[in-house]
Amino acid sequence: MANKGPRTVVLPSAEKAAALVKKMRGEVDSNENYRSKSLRINGAICAKCGREFDQGNLSLLTVHHRDGNHHNNPPDGSNWENLCIHCHDDEHSRGELGEYFSKTT
Ligand SMILES: [Zn+2]
Ligand SMILES: [Zn+2]
Repeated sequence: MANKGPRTVVLPSAEKAAALVKKMRGEVDSNENYRSKSLRINGAICAKCGREFDQGNLSLLTVHHRDGNHHNNPPDGSNWENLCIHCHDDEHSRGELGEYFSKTT
C-alpha cells in the first residue's frame, strides 16, 4: 500500500489568509469609511450652514449622498456632501434620514 505519499492539502498560508481578510475588510471599510473620507475631502464643515465641527461634536456632521444612493461612494468624494444633522434632515425631510442612520450605525 503506497500510503506514504504526503497528501498536500492546500491551505491558505497565514499571509494569504490575512490578505483575504484585508480584502474583505477593505470592501467593508470603503463603505463604512466614506464618512471619514468625506470629512477629509470636504472638511469638517456643513456645506449648507457653514457650521464647523471638531472632535467633540463631529458626530453631528453627517454625509449626504447627492444622488441619494448610499452605495455610490466614489473615492473622489463627488457624491458626498457634509451636512450637519439639521441641514441633512432638512435636505431629506421625509423620514429617509431614519433609514440613513439605521444603515450607518
Ligand atoms: Zn448645517
Ligand atoms: Zn442625505
